[in-house]
Amino acid sequence: MKRSARIQQSVLGMMVCGLVGCSVVPGTNRSQLNFMSDSQMNHLGGETFSSILQKGKVIEDGAVVARVQAIGTRIVQSAHGLYPSADIPSEWEIVLIEDDTPNAFALPGGRIGVHTGMVELAGSDDALAIVMGHEVGHVLAEHSAERMSHTVLITGGLITGAVALKDQDESTQRWTMAALGAGATVGVMLPYSRVHESEADELGLMIAANAGYDPRASIPLWQRMAAASGGRLEFLSTHPVPATRITNFQGLMPRAMTLYRQAGGQ
Ligand SMILES: [Zn+2]
Repeated sequence: MKRSARIQQSVLGMMVCGLVGCSVVPGTNRSQLNFMSDSQMNHLGGETFSSILQKGKVIEDGAVVARVQAIGTRIVQSAHGLYPSADIPSEWEIVLIEDDTPNAFALPGGRIGVHTGMVELAGSDDALAIVMGHEVGHVLAEHSAERMSHTVLITGGLITGAVALKDQDESTQRWTMAALGAGATVGVMLPYSRVHESEADELGLMIAANAGYDPRASIPLWQRMAAASGGRLEFLSTHPVPATRITNFQGLMPRAMTLYRQAGGQ
């Protein structure tokens, strides 16, 4: 996003915060604009997840599924322990999808999809935990809801509309959003912003370390990811650039290592 657009977005956010209220992201304390209801985001997440699973090939059982689900479960438990104020489900659906593209995603309402290509690229449990931590971080920080809130405002340019929307029933909200061009299931899958990616990196690293996974695995993981991708993946959706990302991880490492050692790691 260009600087002017970022400023415009934050000014807009501040103006609207006064009208519809803002929430604070657990763990980073960043104030965010979010006037989407949890039930609506859960619904959109469920619809999007179903349509992805219908198109993809879900691997139902086997050692790799068990491994991905075991790591995912530990990550979710860690997220709850580390960020108790976060409004995330206790039960998550964790699915392995047959797809060579090294990618993973998470959706509102507690849903995670991991491609077989990502399991291969990650290699170790530590790296896979960092990937899944990143995805849980997006959900925990309600990035989809924040992005859709901004989209509704920017597309419609209607601050009054946002106020009105907050108190409408779900079907009216959905209709209004569709009319504003935000779309429903499409909106949930739009690329994340740089701020969101960095925040998910930070939350995910802490969640993984707190679960006893070695945070130092993050750096070679991102190096492999950069080498494997032409920048088209969610994980490298053009920003932050891999070098910046690795520098960020290095800055976060002391805090992550403290959590890792508290969890029994060395
Ligand atoms: Zn991400």
